[in-house]
Amino acid sequence: MSTDFEVIVIGAGPAGYVAAIRCAQLGIKTACIDNWVNEKGKSSLGGTCLNVGCIPSKALLQSSELFEQANNNFEQHGIKLGSVKLDLKTMMARKNKIVSELTGGIAALLKANKVEAIVGTAKLLADKKVEVVHAAEKNIYTAENIIIASGSSSIELAVAPLTDNLIVDSTGALSFDSVPDKIGVIGAGVIGLELGSVWRRLGAKVVVLEAQDVFLPTADQQIARDAQRLYKKQGLDIRLNARLLSTNIKTVNKRKQVEVNYQDEKGDQCEIFDKLIVAVGRKPNTDHIFDEEAELILDERCFIHVNDQCETSQPGVYAIGDVVRGPMLAHKGSEEGMMVAELIADKHASVNYDLIPAVIYTHPEIAWVGKTEQQLKAAGENYKTGVFPFVASGRAKAQGDTSGMVKILSQGETDRILGVHIMGSHASELIAQAVTAMELGASAEDIALTIFAHPSLSEALHEAALAVDNRAIHIVQPKR
Ligand code: FAD
Ligand code: NAD
Repeated sequence: MSTDFEVIVIGAGPAGYVAAIRCAQLGIKTACIDNWVNEKGKSSLGGTCLNVGCIPSKALLQSSELFEQANNNFEQHGIKLGSVKLDLKTMMARKNKIVSELTGGIAALLKANKVEAIVGTAKLLADKKVEVVHAAEKNIYTAENIIIASGSSSIELAVAPLTDNLIVDSTGALSFDSVPDKIGVIGAGVIGLELGSVWRRLGAKVVVLEAQDVFLPTADQQIARDAQRLYKKQGLDIRLNARLLSTNIKTVNKRKQVEVNYQDEKGDQCEIFDKLIVAVGRKPNTDHIFDEEAELILDERCFIHVNDQCETSQPGVYAIGDVVRGPMLAHKGSEEGMMVAELIADKHASVNYDLIPAVIYTHPEIAWVGKTEQQLKAAGENYKTGVFPFVASGRAKAQGDTSGMVKILSQGETDRILGVHIMGSHASELIAQAVTAMELGASAEDIALTIFAHPSLSEALHEAALAVDNRAIHIVQPKR
């Protein structure tokens, strides 16, 4: 039976558009269907990541960090600026320009690769038919293979329903038109910390309410404890063990505010905020993505059930990115997209789920790959540790930015690296060296035997590797 396409990809986020481009590169006739509409009512490719996620948040993190540097840190370099003024409108316009250039770039890439970009909302029917609805039009397309990459959306809380420009999710928090005096954030996860940092740097008082009693439980706890201390020093008020009870919109002096009632170990608490950001995780976009007859299996959290190769319960139907299990990260989805394209082209491909780097783009940045020390302890693994603080790094000192450390965990007998944890300036860039080393099965000694340029932040990785063997040069290690 002839089909309209060899592959139809549903969703043009970093999972879907990468899958579509790789399919096209492999000579496969591909369509990519997406329904994202931006605030101007225009179709905009790139999904959450480019429109309201990774890119706009990093644009604001960069701008707000420069603002904070100019306010607090330039003087130590002998640079006097006088009074530093915030022009939020220009900051937001810069962010929006970056988004529109990059989303436009995806459209151009799909076109150049001859991927047919179709605008509309897709639903998978039986027999790999896809229904696409756009405005009043409905079309049916067929393909030999389907890749579902419909992504995720913010989880909403019944006790804190989104309210126009007062109780907002991450998307709302990327577009405030003035700096609120006091912001509440529900959830001390990645979004809460990143967007909380943006608005704190721009002048808001930020209180983060976190339900769990452990801060950043998936990060190495030595790093998490240091990070919590540094955020506190910066003025980010993180309150753990905070159980949200209710929210109310109040009008005080003709100004609408949000009253938040929560409980902690001391009892019932109440705080009034000018804005409340709800950042309690994301859920997969699986509502209405397939017809019952398509018979896809969902797991207990409504993710599409897939195996390690992203095959669903239906032959020829794959699912990738945030809509399936695993960390909700753009690079994880993109790698799955590439793998599935290769598999469809009958090539060998796999994703190494053990080595997906994670980054929190606060200041300092936190980045890690592999196992944490608490995971190794829980598994009863025999391991060695090497830690090197940036305060002993010449380059970090020259930069005036010495917070954080590099920590390497290696196997006790073989010395193979099991995990690398970095907190510090440019940790997001430094972690790539650790991922590469671990992909190549390196030992800590391999890094110890590698030459790093001086002075560079990377030398801290070298020193941490030396420290595993108790022979770091620029710190005095306790005798073992
Ligand atoms: P998405 O990017 O969500 O894309 C899915 C696309 O499918 C969307 O365009 C959607 O409109 C479309 N779609 C959905 N249903 C249909 C349908 N029925 N028909 C047609 N189209 C449909 N990750 C990182 O790795 N690094 C970061 O720094 C980072 N920062 C983030 C910051 C924020 C504020 C947020 C919210 C997220 C961030 N993330 C980050 C997470 C990252 O954005 C996601 O992991 C990533 O976008 C997932 O990619 P995806 O392609 O699976 O889905
Ligand atoms: P998250 O899972 O990182 O954090 C959510 C936090 O909210 C958790 O700490 C959780 O305990 C807490 N929480 C849940 N319910 C709560 C409640 N009722 N009251 C108080 N606290 C509550 O989720 P997120 O920060 O919303 O981010 C969503 C996804 O987006 C993440 O999976 C993340 O990977 C991705 N993301 C990644 C980056 C990055 O890579 N730098 C940046 C932003 C977002």
